[in-house]
Amino acid sequence: MLTKLTLKHTLLYTLFLSLLFMSCDNSALTDDHQDNRFVPYFTESGEMNKRGHTHTGGTEQGIINEQLAELINGKISELGITGIEFAKAETFTAIQDGNFQTGQTIFANDRVKQLPFEWVPGDARRLADGNNLTYLVFEPLAFANTGNPLPVIDAEPIFDTAFSTWNNLKKNSGLAIVKREVPGVFPSAILGFGSFINDPFAADIGSIGFLPGSIFDAILGPGASGGVLGVAFTFTFAGTDETAHVEIWYNDEFPWSDDGTPGTIDIESVALHENGHALGFDHFGRIAIVNANGRLNVAPRAVMNAAYLGPLRELRGTDKASFNQRYGSWPKD
Ligand SMILES: [Zn+2]
Repeated sequence: MLTKLTLKHTLLYTLFLSLLFMSCDNSALTDDHQDNRFVPYFTESGEMNKRGHTHTGGTEQGIINEQLAELINGKISELGITGIEFAKAETFTAIQDGNFQTGQTIFANDRVKQLPFEWVPGDARRLADGNNLTYLVFEPLAFANTGNPLPVIDAEPIFDTAFSTWNNLKKNSGLAIVKREVPGVFPSAILGFGSFINDPFAADIGSIGFLPGSIFDAILGPGASGGVLGVAFTFTFAGTDETAHVEIWYNDEFPWSDDGTPGTIDIESVALHENGHALGFDHFGRIAIVNANGRLNVAPRAVMNAAYLGPLRELRGTDKASFNQRYGSWPKD
């Protein structure tokens, strides 16, 4: 593990060099993670609003950001990757005292119709493993808390568990989510990483790992490092609504844990959410401040709620319904 960590630190330097829009200001890397502002306080409603219209997540909340699309499409091109384009980025945020903001879905400019993006079973263009969806954990960056005094956590087994939780839902679906091990490959379409070969098609889903907050600021805009826990980038085959690649980043600016201790962010809960995006699920549920004390109400509680509301490692009703709707008729091999 020490060797891997040394590798990570060495390679992070080259990662910085690969970014065009690096911020020179490292003040964002201070240790303000030690306070307890990430402890949420919310009530939970077990029922969906019978009137409907409670779904404020997903496309209804989507914003268009031409600048982000240009930036990311430029990165794809710089890396020599062809045939795919940026479709959307979904951010997952921490709710902090006095700063209530849910995650956003940011679409590329030409996605005004905001159609759902879907994986195509057995898609030869992405070298599909039959009807399976594959994921790859990039080991050098799979360590949380490398930029703060908290214990360093090897998150790879946690990422695996978070994929398994979705995979275990398959029941009658032909979908299996399987892990790929491809040494020497960095499964990103946006960032370069040392001498690693960029290959977003090494697996369908690239679990990139924990990146410095400054990279979140550089790509998602100033301030992202302080609020965005994780982000899932969806890419489509150019000119289509068919998913080509999804990659997931975690923000190492935050205090991560493997137990969701108050004051920390539970890795598995966030990974379960991000993996949901990778499967094609949008944000779900209505989160609102219901009184002057800042008490939050969420209805319904779901893994795919647009903000982190504390540990949630089990899929809820709407999460399962989304899965069944999308994958219930997924073909079997
Ligand atoms: Zn999200």
